[in-house]
Amino acid sequence: MRIDKLLSNTGFGSRKEVKQLLKSGAVRIDDTSVKDAKTHVDPENQHITVNGETVVYREFIYLMMNKPPGYLSATEDNHQETVVDLLEHEDAIMEPFPVGRLDKDTEGFLLLTNDGQLSHQLLSPKKHVPKKYFAHVKGEVTEEDGQAFKEGVTLDDGYVTKPAALEIISAGEISHIYVTITEGKYHQVKRMFESVGKKVIFLKRVSMGPLELDEDLQKGEYRELTEEEIDMLR
Ligand code: URA
Repeated sequence: MRIDKLLSNTGFGSRKEVKQLLKSGAVRIDDTSVKDAKTHVDPENQHITVNGETVVYREFIYLMMNKPPGYLSATEDNHQETVVDLLEHEDAIMEPFPVGRLDKDTEGFLLLTNDGQLSHQLLSPKKHVPKKYFAHVKGEVTEEDGQAFKEGVTLDDGYVTKPAALEIISAGEISHIYVTITEGKYHQVKRMFESVGKKVIFLKRVSMGPLELDEDLQKGEYRELTEEEIDMLR
């Protein structure tokens, strides 16, 4: 990796600012001063310092966010705010992206990482990673709906869903439920309820695979995953 990219990825400013820093002689690799921005460096095996301070390089970042409603699960958009707009600069410069999508009005557990391999693994249909949602549903959700979800329901485009688990917390004019799905089709939970004649009016993801949403995170807040949590995802 080029030294200028590494330094700007670790918070030493824009490429232009980093170039100035290099020119000033502040940067050393294995005790040798480097001034050329194009110099290649191996952060795993070489010791990099800026003004004598060791540069700690981490390749990957893993964040758990409590996504608020009103934000797109995307890295950028010309008109609307995205979940990446909620990140501190020092995290955003590592270029994390959301693993899968939550609808703009859906809240809750969203994983952001720049680890493409892990993301791919979690999203792979072959892995059947369970995603659990809490929802308010207009209409009385019944045990028959639970049976239909277990068997698979036909969505508006003809797709038949894989077995999903429905847990009814309270049923009435507005029902409160948990539903666990192992796929990630577009608007899947909303469309599953539509297929049984009901409407989701509030949706929050509460877990993904082995990880539950940290309830200490207020809407829009996020934290890094612990090493243990990262291992659990692998
Ligand atoms: N299912 C939906 O309908 N929307 C989401 O955001 C996630 C799952």
